[in-house]
Amino acid sequence: MCCNGTSVGFVKVERFETEKIQNVLDIETENGKGFFLQPCSKLNSCGCEIYNERPKQCANFQCNLLRSVRENKTNIHDALQIVEKAKRKKQTIEEMIQSQQINLNSNSFYFKGCELRSKYKKQSNPSTKWKNLIDEIEKLNNLFSENT
Ligand code: SF4
Repeated sequence: MCCNGTSVGFVKVERFETEKIQNVLDIETENGKGFFLQPCSKLNSCGCEIYNERPKQCANFQCNLLRSVRENKTNIHDALQIVEKAKRKKQTIEEMIQSQQINLNSNSFYFKGCELRSKYKKQSNPSTKWKNLIDEIEKLNNLFSENT
């Protein structure tokens, strides 16, 4: 859910690795540093296509849930349940966006959430559907902040 842009919007590329990463991935650069937006073009159904060359931020990233499993604070069964819950919530939100026919510019789910919050704040009298949508997004974010 990080590589596919659900919980993470972009990946930073450090100055020392910019050249190496540019050989395997399209990135934006400025002053020697770089970044790329999620969903990552190197994510396929089996995982990361450039696993051995992936950026440092990817290699070091551990969500709270993974840390919690590694520290034996959460068992793997409960962790998988949390992942499934997050996936269901994401699906619900996507269906809500579709049913309300809201046009969004972002490719990633993460930035769609930012766009929706921004649109919501500009409404003086938001409908119940909008309130419910934002409520679901906040619930998913809470799930991520607790577990990712
Ligand atoms: S480079 Fe690999 S690990 Fe990093 S975001 Fe892309 S798919 Fe994920």
